[in-house]
Amino acid sequence: MPNCKIQRDKTFSYIPENRTIHYTDLRDYYDLFSLLHEFGHAHFRHLGLKTMLREKEPFQVWQQEIDAWKYARKCIKPNWYWLFDSFAVDCLDTYNKFLTHYSRNELLNLITGATRQIKIRRED
Ligand SMILES: [Zn+2]
Repeated sequence: MPNCKIQRDKTFSYIPENRTIHYTDLRDYYDLFSLLHEFGHAHFRHLGLKTMLREKEPFQVWQQEIDAWKYARKCIKPNWYWLFDSFAVDCLDTYNKFLTHYSRNELLNLITGATRQIKIRRED
């Protein structure tokens, strides 16, 4: 577990400025997966989304999200992958829609490690 504070809140997030993870009630496995994802951001000492979007390239924002989901995936037992993977792909898809435009299968390959290269598709 990364060295950071955790604090109850209304949403899941990681605030790099004070190294704090915010979390909601843990009602189900999806909430647990989200918390592990935020642990991933803290573990890798990721920058906040607003900073990333202002100062970095889109693929770097994207890479942070992939890495945080891969971290979360390593924390769970393989017999939960069936539930985890579809949830992680759903979450990634929200970024995907404005950053990369991958198919769901390509997203799955990115978090399972089947695809290593992150490419940004340009819409011409
Ligand atoms: Zn994230």
